[in-house]
Amino acid sequence: MKVQDLIEQLAELNPDAEVRLAYQPNYPLWEVASAIVAGNDDGAPVNDTECQVCGGMDGHEHGCPERLDPSPRVDEVEAEFVYLTSGGSSGYASKALWDGGAW
Ligand SMILES: [Zn+2]
Repeated sequence: MKVQDLIEQLAELNPDAEVRLAYQPNYPLWEVASAIVAGNDDGAPVNDTECQVCGGMDGHEHGCPERLDPSPRVDEVEAEFVYLTSGGSSGYASKALWDGGAW
């Protein structure tokens, strides 16, 4: 699914409806969506410069085995992935959600 598909499909729905994320069809659950974040293929936000090894920001802590420079900065509108984060209320969902898409 692409952002453009989402924009078109959401445009036809109630703007006051709460957005929930249904996941795990073999044990269906839902959780309230809390944010939309432009990210990279590694599951991190764009321009996340925290080293995954030492936790250093914009660089490495002394002795960190990673010697790679932080990723080049990416404009959010050029990010290749968009993550919908969840948080807050949650509950059991119905498997029918996976069959019932109108699109
Ligand atoms: Zn590091």
